[in-house]
Amino acid sequence: MTDRAARQAEVIRALQQVLPPHALLWRGEDTVPYECDGLTAYREQPLVVVLPETEAQVSGVLKACHALGVPVVARGAGTGLSGGAMPHKLGVTLSLAKFNKILKVDAYARTAVVQCGVRNLAISEAAAPYGLYYAPDPSSQIACTIGGNVAENSGGVHCLKYGLTVHNVLKVRGFTVEGEAVEFGADALDAAGLDLLAVMVGSEGMLAVAIEVTVRLVPKPQLARCIMASFDDVRKAGDAVAAIIAAGIIPAGLEMMDKPMTAAVEDFVRAGYDLDAAAILLCESDGTPEEVAEEIEHMQAVLQGCGATRMEVSENEAQRLKFWSGRKNAFPASGRISPDYMCMDSTIPRKRLADILLAIAEMEKKYGLRCCNVFHAGDGNLHPLILFDANDPDEMHRCELFGADILETSVRMGGTVSGEHGVGVEKLGSMCVQFTPAENAQMMALKAAFDPTGILNPGKVIPTLQRCAEGGKMHVKKGLLPFPELPRF
Ligand SMILES: Cc1cc2nc3c(=O)[nH]c(=O)nc-3n(C[C@H](O)[C@H](O)[C@H](O)COP(=O)(O)OP(=O)(O)OC[C@H]3O[C@@H](n4cnc5c(N)ncnc54)[C@H](O)[C@@H]3O)c2cc1C
Repeated sequence: MTDRAARQAEVIRALQQVLPPHALLWRGEDTVPYECDGLTAYREQPLVVVLPETEAQVSGVLKACHALGVPVVARGAGTGLSGGAMPHKLGVTLSLAKFNKILKVDAYARTAVVQCGVRNLAISEAAAPYGLYYAPDPSSQIACTIGGNVAENSGGVHCLKYGLTVHNVLKVRGFTVEGEAVEFGADALDAAGLDLLAVMVGSEGMLAVAIEVTVRLVPKPQLARCIMASFDDVRKAGDAVAAIIAAGIIPAGLEMMDKPMTAAVEDFVRAGYDLDAAAILLCESDGTPEEVAEEIEHMQAVLQGCGATRMEVSENEAQRLKFWSGRKNAFPASGRISPDYMCMDSTIPRKRLADILLAIAEMEKKYGLRCCNVFHAGDGNLHPLILFDANDPDEMHRCELFGADILETSVRMGGTVSGEHGVGVEKLGSMCVQFTPAENAQMMALKAAFDPTGILNPGKVIPTLQRCAEGGKMHVKKGLLPFPELPRF
């Protein structure tokens, strides 16, 4: 028996004490569906996958793993794009798929209490009869879970106006690495003491396991309309984004797509996009009919001033949804034109949007790979989709270099290496670019305060000193690229 097989047998024996047989998977053919998340380029087989159905079982799994020193990787729907839920080869993958109940919708308090495995969209569906919805709307909302959203601090089209997950969650209940119950936040609008809820949100399964989440609900706006604006130059489109915000408008959504992306999408969903445009913007307004009319007019004036070559305003809900269907299907559309794609997720100051897009165009030549751009422009949150073939090791290598270059350039333009998809395993090296060794050590110390033995999702998010040294990377904060002067509108 190999060491791995012996360890596996030991872990299975311990977990059999706390789980029924059907909640425990270890044969290769059963665990293979869990070998990766949405970042399919990296895969690993776990020792065991567990699917607990009660909180007592979750606690029992954590206690058993803690006693044996076995790594535990929590998993929601596995739609993550940075390898956060990728298994540990000597660890247990803790699937929370069975925690899929909506426990309460309180229309008076405008909150919902849901289990962590509830799908994002299911919350809005349950709140709809009360005229309410859950605002953060990742494009994966049909599948991704609220537990995963909390762990990644997920965003979406409407987060520019309504905030990210961290702004829409009141309380998270769960378990510590030792299997003890823990609560972050409160039912009230503020919790006493240090803001540990904000620490838990975005902690990528490294501090605790979330089991139940209390979310805020917001009233469904009476009306929403969307402008589709075309530009013959990406710089003009990028500058238009900064100009809209500078004009004091906070649109309900402000998204951008470049020409290769609209071509891929249009072929797939026929959203009616302008295929001649170098870039298009989708600018949404919501509120009362009067508020929407005024804001749409204001945005049109700004877009016109920035050189929009064509503008179309949705006339009805069907047309508005058609505009958004293209944006929401951008990732699957990329899957139709390339065997694989790697979605990067950096942020930059809005006024640098055009600079980074032009830099990415240069990188396409440097690395010999195509890249489509679709992103939350209003948040300055980029999603370059690098197209490659994972079966070709050279392409895979060039793709990794291309991605790292985008992240490093984003930091040098004053941005960050991660917007809403988390760091996971994908951006470990880039964390060395963004943070000093002392800053990374502080994050490691925070993890150790929650998880002293380091078994919750180890090897993710925070790079070791050795990793930074091996990557040959240095943090670049001191060498920021200068801001160019922007035209005034
Ligand atoms: C087509 C597509 C579009 C996407 N669009 C967006 C988008 O617009 N915005 C956006 O933000 N993201 C987007 N994503 C990324 C992804 O959907 C989100 O990161 C989502 O929050 C992941 O949820 P999940 O349930 O799939 O989590 P998983 O992928 O299963 O896990 C993600 C991380 O959360 C941890 N985790 C999961 N559940 C728990 C729990 N209960 N307790 C503690 N830790 C836990 C895992 O360990 C892992 O680190 C997209 C992904 C795809 C495939």
